[in-house]
Amino acid sequence: MVLLLLFLELCQAEPPRELDHGICAVYLVDGGVGLLALRGDAVVALTLLLIALALWVAFNWVAPFATLINAERISPGRLPSALLTSAGARKVRFYTAHLPRGPRVGLGFSIWAPPFSVVVFDQEFFARAPTAMIRFVVAHELAHFSLGHHRMRWLAVVTGAVLLPTVRRRLARAEDEADAAASKHTGLSKSMFPGLR
Ligand SMILES: [Zn+2]
Repeated sequence: MVLLLLFLELCQAEPPRELDHGICAVYLVDGGVGLLALRGDAVVALTLLLIALALWVAFNWVAPFATLINAERISPGRLPSALLTSAGARKVRFYTAHLPRGPRVGLGFSIWAPPFSVVVFDQEFFARAPTAMIRFVVAHELAHFSLGHHRMRWLAVVTGAVLLPTVRRRLARAEDEADAAASKHTGLSKSMFPGLR
C-alpha cells in the first residue's frame, strides 16, 4: 500500500502531457512494479466497472444473511456433538427456517456468509427427522465446509461461472463428495434414508 501511494504521488507530481485527464496507477507483475496510464474515458469506464464489481460482490456477501432473517439458531444440545469437535466444525452456525420446497433448496443447505459458515435446515424436517438422519445431514453439510465447497460455490456464483455446464457438473460432484465424507464420519449411508434426495 505504501508503495502504491508513493507511485501515485510520483504520477501526480510529473503527469505525462497526454494524460492531463487520466490517472497513473501501479500494478505488480511477477513481483515487478510497473506504471499503468489510462486516458480519461478509460478511467470513467474502469471506475464504473470497478463500482459495479464491488456492488455485485457486496450483494453476494449480504444476500446469505437475508436467509437468516426468519431463521432460528439451533442450540448445540440438539446437534450431534461427536461431529462438532473439530475447530472448523465449531465455527459453523446451524439454523432452522421454513424453506420453500424445490430442487434447488431441499431439506437444508450450507452457505458461506463471510466470516461465518452457516447451515440452514428446513424447520419441519429438522423437527421430525430421526436422530440418525440428522447425524448424516449434519455430517454432509460440515463436509461441504471442510472440503472447501462453500468457497468454490461462492466463487462460481459471483463470477457467473455457475452457468457453465462444467462448473455445474463439478458442483454436483461436490454433493457426492459430501455424501461420501458423511458416510465415512458417521458409518451411515445416504441410501438408508429414502427421504434424502
Ligand atoms: Zn450438499
